[in-house]
Amino acid sequence: MGLFDSEVIRQGDMELMQYNDDNAFYKIIHKQIQANVVLEGEHFIAFHDIAPRAPVHILIIPKGSYIDYHDFIERASDIEILDFHRGMNQVVKLMKLRENGFKLRTNSGKFRLNDEGGQEVMHMHFHILGKPSEA
Ligand code: 5GP
Repeated sequence: MGLFDSEVIRQGDMELMQYNDDNAFYKIIHKQIQANVVLEGEHFIAFHDIAPRAPVHILIIPKGSYIDYHDFIERASDIEILDFHRGMNQVVKLMKLRENGFKLRTNSGKFRLNDEGGQEVMHMHFHILGKPSEA
C-alpha cells in the first residue's frame, strides 16, 4: 500500500468511512493549491491557517491520506507518527511559542463543544496556536 492510496476503513461492524482526496489539504500536499509553508519533513507539512484564530495559527498535516487522528494512529507507520509529532514540536520552536505557551488541538469528526466546531477538513491535522515571544 502506498502512502497516498485511499483505503476503505471498517469502523465497528456497520459504518464504512473512506478517505476522499477532494479536500484542501490533499491539494496542498500535491501542490494543486498554495499554502504558506513554515516547515516540511518527509512525512508532514506545516503551514499557516488561512483564517488564523491566534497570533500564530499553524496547521500540521501528515502527507499520507488519513481522515482523522484515530485513522492516523491506527494505520500510519511508527516513522510517520514519530516524524509528525517531532515536526509539531519543531514548529513550536520555530514559531517561538514555548515561552508564552501554546495549544495543540485536533478535531476528529463532527463533535462540537460550546461554539467550537467539529472537523471541517477530512484530512488529519493539528492546530498549533500561540503567541510568539519577542526574542
Ligand atoms: P477543522 O475544523 O477541520 O479542524 O479546521 C480546518 C482548518 O483549516 C480551519 O481553521 C480553516 O481555516 C483551515 N483551512 C481550510 N481550508 C484551508 C486552505 O485551503 N488553506 C489553509 N491554509 N487553511 C485552510
